[in-house]
Amino acid sequence: MSEQPAKSWLCRETQAQLPALMAGELHGLGERAVRKHVDRCPDCADALARQQSVHAGLQAMRGSTIAPPEGLLDELLATTSHKGLRGKAAVPARGALSGARPGMSAAFVAAGLIASTGVGWAALKGGRAVLSRRGRKGT
Ligand SMILES: [Zn+2]
Repeated sequence: MSEQPAKSWLCRETQAQLPALMAGELHGLGERAVRKHVDRCPDCADALARQQSVHAGLQAMRGSTIAPPEGLLDELLATTSHKGLRGKAAVPARGALSGARPGMSAAFVAAGLIASTGVGWAALKGGRAVLSRRGRKGT
């Protein structure tokens, strides 16, 4: 049992291997060495935890569907119906956008996006920014 003066070097080496460990590309002695160090080293355990959450996030994105967070639909509907109220106040300016009911069409698009992939979910978030920008145009 000896102290390890070159700990930072060991940590660098270990943390450099974490992505490979997560990807299942590390085997045998290399894997054991990394895991053993992580067991003893809080810094590297921390790095591994971060790596794991990144990895989990990537795995989720790779899947075909992501469940939207609870309450997202309610939030969206609230946003769109709020838009509807404001739309009434600024009818002449909004007429050119998307016909008579911008609130309704936005909700329709949102439902379609939620039903599709995680990419759609990301686009939906971007879409909200677009919607609020449009809302400002009228005022
Ligand atoms: Zn370490």
